[in-house]
Amino acid sequence: MAGQLRYDDQVVVVTGAGGGLGKAYALFFGSRGAKVVVNDLGGSFKGEGNSTKAADVIVDEIKKAGGQAVANYDSVENGEKIIETAIKNFGRVDVLINNAGILRDVSFKNMSDQDWDLIMKVHVKGAYKCARAAWPYFRKQKYGRVINTASAAGLFGSFGQCNYSAAKLAQVGFTETLAKEGAKYNIICNVIAPIAASRMTETVMPPDVLENLKPDWVVPLVAVLVHKNNTDENGSIFEVGGGHIAKFRWERSSGLLLKADDSYTPGAVLKQWNKVTDFSDPQYPSGPNDFMSLLEDSMKMGPSDK
Ligand code: NAD
Repeated sequence: MAGQLRYDDQVVVVTGAGGGLGKAYALFFGSRGAKVVVNDLGGSFKGEGNSTKAADVIVDEIKKAGGQAVANYDSVENGEKIIETAIKNFGRVDVLINNAGILRDVSFKNMSDQDWDLIMKVHVKGAYKCARAAWPYFRKQKYGRVINTASAAGLFGSFGQCNYSAAKLAQVGFTETLAKEGAKYNIICNVIAPIAASRMTETVMPPDVLENLKPDWVVPLVAVLVHKNNTDENGSIFEVGGGHIAKFRWERSSGLLLKADDSYTPGAVLKQWNKVTDFSDPQYPSGPNDFMSLLEDSMKMGPSDK
C-alpha cells in the first residue's frame, strides 16, 4: 500500500480557500505538513462584496489542528499580492492551486458586458496573474506544481453559462501551454473539471445528490497531481467528483483527406461527409504536429487518390 503523501516544508497557495473546494484543499495540505496561504476575497458567489472572515476561519482551523497557514484577502486579479504573501511569510512557493471562482449565470440573450467581463477577470485573468507571479520562483528553484480549475460547463457547454463556459475552457488551453513551457523546469501543470457540493451548486442540485459530492472527494486527485513524485501527468485534463476520477483527451475522427486542388469543392466534401464524422477508427492527437503530418500526406496524393 502507498504510504501517506506528505508536503512537509512545501508552501501551497490555494485561491478561493474560504469555502467549498478551496477550503477542502487548504485543510488537507495544512494537515500534511505544508505551509498554506489561504486566499479568499470573501464575497458572494456572484462576486459581490468582500470580507476577511472567510480566509481567517480556515487559517484558524489549520492552526488549531497544529498546522501552519496565513491568510490573504486579495482578489486573484492581484495575483502578485497573493504570491507576495507566500514569499513574505514562508520564503517560497511550491504549489499553486487556482481555484477561486464566481458565477454570473444568465442566458446569452441577456448577457451584459459586465457579466462577461467579471467572469473573465476572476477566472481567466485571476489564474493568469497568480501563475505569472509564481512562475519566476518556480523556474529559479526548478520546481513548481499548478492546478487550474475548469468545469464540465467549459468542456460541454451549459445553458445560461456562456461566460463561465468560455472562461473554464480557457483553463484547459492555459494549462496545456504552461505544461509545455514549464516541463524543463520541473513545473508540472494540470487541469481539473470538478463536481462538488458547494454554495455554487447547492441551488442547482437536489440534497441527496449533493450528499454524495463532498468537496473532500476531489482532494485526493489534486494531492496526487501536485505531489513531488508526480512527474508523469503534465498538461492533463481530469474529471473528478463523488469518488470518481477520469482522464480526458481529445479524439479526432479518422477524417476525410482530399487533394487540395480545384476538385476540392463543397460538393466533394458533402459526398464523403460520413468520413468527416466517422469515429470508428479514432486518433488521439497530442499536438498540432499530428495535423501537419496529415496535411503532408494530402500534398503527396496524386489525382488517382481523389
Ligand atoms: P465556492 O463559491 O464555494 O468557492 C469559491 C471561493 O472563491 C469562494 O470562497 C469565494 O469567496 C472565492 N473567490 C471568488 N472570487 C474571488 C476572487 N476574485 N479572489 C479570491 N477569491 C475569490 O465554489 P466551489 O464550488 O468550491 O468552486 C471552486 C472552483 O471550482 C471554482 O473555480 C469553480 O468554478 C470550480 N468548479 C466547481 C464545481 C462544483 O461542482 N462545485 C464544478 C465545476 C467547477
